[in-house]
Amino acid sequence: MKKKDIQKKYNDKIKLIKKYNANYYDKSKPIVNDQVYDYLKKEILQLEIDHNFLKSENSPSIIVGHKPSKNFKKSLHKVPMLSLGNAFSEEDLVNFEKKIKNFLSLKEKDQIYYNAEPKIDGISASLTYKKGKFFKGLSRGDGKEGEDITDNLATINDIPKTITIKDFPDEIDIRGEVFIQNSDFKNLNEKFANPRNAASGSLRQKNAKDTEKIPLKFIAYTFGYEKGMLIENQADFINKLSEWGFKTNPLNKLISGVKNLIENYNDIEKKRTNLDFDIDGIVYKVNDFAMQKRLGNVANAPRWAIAHKFSSNKAISKILDIEIQVGRTGALTPVAKIKPINIGGVVVSNATLHNEDEIYRKDIRIGDTAIIERAGDVIPHIISVDTKKRSKDSKKFIFPKKCPSCGSKTIKEFNVLTKKTDAVRRCSSEGYYCDKISIEKLKHFVSKEAFNIEGLGKKIVEFFWNLKFIKFPQDIFKLDYEKIEKLEGWGKLSVENLKYSINQKKNISLERFIYSLGIRHIGLENAKLLSKYFVSFLKFKNLSKTNKYEDLLDIDGIGETQVNSIKGFFSNEINLKVLSELEKVLIVKSASPIKINGLLKNKSFLVTGKLNGISRAEVKSLIEENSGTTVSAVSKKLNYLIIGEKPTKKKIDNATRLKIKIIDQVEFLKMLNKTS
Ligand code: NAD
Repeated sequence: MKKKDIQKKYNDKIKLIKKYNANYYDKSKPIVNDQVYDYLKKEILQLEIDHNFLKSENSPSIIVGHKPSKNFKKSLHKVPMLSLGNAFSEEDLVNFEKKIKNFLSLKEKDQIYYNAEPKIDGISASLTYKKGKFFKGLSRGDGKEGEDITDNLATINDIPKTITIKDFPDEIDIRGEVFIQNSDFKNLNEKFANPRNAASGSLRQKNAKDTEKIPLKFIAYTFGYEKGMLIENQADFINKLSEWGFKTNPLNKLISGVKNLIENYNDIEKKRTNLDFDIDGIVYKVNDFAMQKRLGNVANAPRWAIAHKFSSNKAISKILDIEIQVGRTGALTPVAKIKPINIGGVVVSNATLHNEDEIYRKDIRIGDTAIIERAGDVIPHIISVDTKKRSKDSKKFIFPKKCPSCGSKTIKEFNVLTKKTDAVRRCSSEGYYCDKISIEKLKHFVSKEAFNIEGLGKKIVEFFWNLKFIKFPQDIFKLDYEKIEKLEGWGKLSVENLKYSINQKKNISLERFIYSLGIRHIGLENAKLLSKYFVSFLKFKNLSKTNKYEDLLDIDGIGETQVNSIKGFFSNEINLKVLSELEKVLIVKSASPIKINGLLKNKSFLVTGKLNGISRAEVKSLIEENSGTTVSAVSKKLNYLIIGEKPTKKKIDNATRLKIKIIDQVEFLKMLNKTS
């Protein structure tokens, strides 16, 4: 890669990390999880190692946190508040100790003692005491300058306001972590992704009265500036802190030797789920203050300390229960309810167990201690359970043979094509007999690619279902709006809006209609094929009379699996009733056979951003109906980029570079001789 390109790549990454920092530190609302953040940080540091011409004042190798917010008065720290280097493996710890020994010219056999302190995942604060009085409190800010949050900190009960003990220094900055306990976090009204963000957001309120409402805690662990302190090491300092009236961490421990550090780390990681506060690793600090002084700091972290982080995508927790969820197609999915645990900034309390076979294969049981993985945006899952930690009366999990929702027999189908029994067990009931299946079918019916009814999302479907307002799809179009208006939280306007969006969707294409029925194995593509084949709703509906199921095999893309599923659908009385009831309230537009010479012939399109009142799927079918094509990325093959609200900047940049025509929704509709 050319130097210019490397520089650009680096600058882009720096810009991105700056944005992440601002959202995390200043707004307390991160826009990515810690895994993504840590990966980007690693990439930047690696680029700097590989190319020594790369430098930035915003590099994570130099900066600490983020500049103080404009909402607060700023104040300088007399002694900077730094970040910490990170260790992720035994090898990292061996290197950490090696560097210390080299720096201090110690021999390999010399022992170094570390104070190992669980790293509470909150936000740090520096409390200045003068003559025993709490005088000023600052956040870390960018390490040099913090936000003056004295009034906010003064609302925290754990922070002593006056200390009269004789040996308390004349002036000292006591530093530690402000955090919120997990049990208190659960009761917070405002939604934060995790307790750390909640603590940060609550502490840095403009009005201290708002901070007072949140039960924040403080644990002390270090000092900044001091005058007149006669303590020689960290362990003694921690003891002194509690004599002076500060809370300290009961899990702090004095340890020497990397092997023992690892043992303590493993031990604490297992205890983590039982603590009432989040920890994200263990901090090791060289115990001796004289040694610490000699070691000093690098740009943004001390040489004498390191944070041994827990994995940002795995954690250990306990399985409290195994719940069986029933999906739209009757599939029974086991879900482990686990003791909530913070994995890379996200509090996880559910983990999928996939299916019955997976539970038996891994012998997963209620009460087990398990390793849970949360990688990327994939649903968290159980990697394994620790059978050694199992109690004697633990029982094998028996997968239900009856549907937990309706009591019908559950079955595992045999796939004639693969000659294998399906791993998934299903409820054998048909149509809308099973409550859970029925509710999931309704959610599917209103979903984005189906009827896409604005204001009628999954939660409201569930709400109306519980109130017995809806049971079958046709009920959606016969809602009693007067009744809804009387419900708490619903006003005239919201009911009017709902009525409007439901009425608007009474006109629907055959393709979407077929898809919305939620027939197993009939997704968007197959629904499109079927709509082109049947053309009209009537012909589709009459399949139950003509019984010409075998003919469907002539459709390119439709196979036996789909045909059997369609047959099953039409052989169910309730489904036929749903069809005829829907026929009464809807106008199902016949499918137009594809125009060969439509208005968009030989033109390709790509949409970026949200369009107004028209979904992606609808745009796609409009384009295809008019002989155009859609592509999935910006390339020379693209003719038009349609931009909506919040488009992806990269797509626009690439399109501009390739001189591709960029149009908005209005221009696009004009091409079809439509106005809205
Ligand atoms: P750090 O995690 O590197 O460590 C320093 C901090 O540890 C101190 O400021 C202090 O608050 C805390 N700490 C807790 N117990 C301590 C103890 N006993 N002794 C000393 N310090 C103790 O802090 P950082 O540099 O602010 O942040 C890095 C972390 O924040 C990473 O885990 C990163 O993933 C996360 N982060 C995430 C995002 C995001 O967008 N998701 C953005 C920025 C940072």
